[in-house]
Amino acid sequence: LLNEKKIIELKKRITDATYLASVLNMLSWDQEVMMSPKGAELRAQTVAAVSGLLHEKILAINHDALLTNLKHLVDQGKIKNDDAVIVKETWRLYERKKKLPDAFVREMAETISRAFTIWVEARKKSDFKLFQPWLEKIISLKRKEASYVGYSDSPYDALIDEYEPGMTTKNAEAILEDLRNFLVPFIASLKKRKKSLLPKIKGKFLIPDQIKLNNFIAEKLGFDLSAGRIDVSAHPFTTNFNPHDVRFTTSYNDTNLWVALGATIHETGHALYEQGLSAKHFGTPLAEAISLGIHESQSRLYENIIGKSKAFWHYFYPELKKRFPQLKKISATDFYESITRVEPSLIRTESDEVTYNLHIIIRFEIERALIESKLKVKDVPKVWNEKVKHYLGISVPDDAHGVLQDMHWASGGVGYFPTYSFGNLYSAQFYKTMERQIPNLSQKIADSEFKPIQIWLGKNIHIHGKRYSAAEIIKKVTGEPLTSRYFIDYLKEKYGQK
Ligand code: MG
Repeated sequence: LLNEKKIIELKKRITDATYLASVLNMLSWDQEVMMSPKGAELRAQTVAAVSGLLHEKILAINHDALLTNLKHLVDQGKIKNDDAVIVKETWRLYERKKKLPDAFVREMAETISRAFTIWVEARKKSDFKLFQPWLEKIISLKRKEASYVGYSDSPYDALIDEYEPGMTTKNAEAILEDLRNFLVPFIASLKKRKKSLLPKIKGKFLIPDQIKLNNFIAEKLGFDLSAGRIDVSAHPFTTNFNPHDVRFTTSYNDTNLWVALGATIHETGHALYEQGLSAKHFGTPLAEAISLGIHESQSRLYENIIGKSKAFWHYFYPELKKRFPQLKKISATDFYESITRVEPSLIRTESDEVTYNLHIIIRFEIERALIESKLKVKDVPKVWNEKVKHYLGISVPDDAHGVLQDMHWASGGVGYFPTYSFGNLYSAQFYKTMERQIPNLSQKIADSEFKPIQIWLGKNIHIHGKRYSAAEIIKKVTGEPLTSRYFIDYLKEKYGQK
């Protein structure tokens, strides 16, 4: 009984911290969607103050050693199942925070805040030299963070673990090298294929009509508009305040229909995950997403495997034509060819699903070498350009189209990039199992019957929260650990020579 009371107290404390985290999410959603730009500076101070409160609240969970005691009981096997998950995951969160000294956290926050501003300017001027001293500082702080957090093999382990708990550098390297060894020759072989003159889905597409279409698709896929909202922001994203209030954004372009469609279908995948979390367990790790990689697997599954399939457009393309008569002369085949075009390009966020992963692998190889002190920051542009040439076969004209294009490093995100590729790999592996377990899956998609997919993902992944780790869930659901094989098969089948 005593242990039960302790668990109840722990749940109360972690739930209180989650309320504050929801407030922070709301502040940043508001900043991206609603706030006038003038509010940015004071909002930043507001966010910093609330972040400080959250940090204190998490540390205070263990002020009387409640969490330490519970952790011992879990280690001794005296607390099991869901309660053990709550204790272990809260311990993970607490321990990582506790290991970082206050002065370090403050130095990191200040560095990132200034580095980000400099990066914006450096990118505008396409001048890496401007950003170089700041990236040096960030890398040295990240190395310091790794030594505070601790690791057994590579300092990069400690960083990747923040985004993809349980993933190691060695494991990531093995998986991504497999993928790279397949992709480089595969993409080269596609380039040799005679380029067909594909019609681009361009013209004037009125935004109000696009909004109706995007809402229609999101709802068809299962997004519950009575438990969330779809808004507009420069960079599409999904956030949640709780499973009954999930917000995502998309971004419209009135001459290119695909900008919003791709973003909407992607974010709907994220949003279905958030809406599928357990409201009953809200506040505890049992109602939190597993990892960034698993989260991304949900968005990529909808965006690419479903949203860029012939079956999907069998239903939706006639719908599109009805709404946009200017598509009248573009056949369904041409439309499909157009959204599945493969072409090596310079900008990661604009790349297709085949070449995308090489963009990630380049970043992974570079950031890992930086953290392991095998590469100097000043040499990053040179190495970047060489890798783009070697892997994608194209030349980088300037830093803005190369090393300066992403905000991740400037905002302290080192170890984050690989989770994008893991997402692609998880998605193909999950989908392969789903195909076996849902009869006539492709026909269901062609009939716009998406409920069985949502239910399958819900019961196999969403509802568990952090009950299982990423490594455990992929094994439990698909019978195998994460591998690049299913994604490679998927690409061969979809894009290979027929
Ligand atoms: Mg995403």
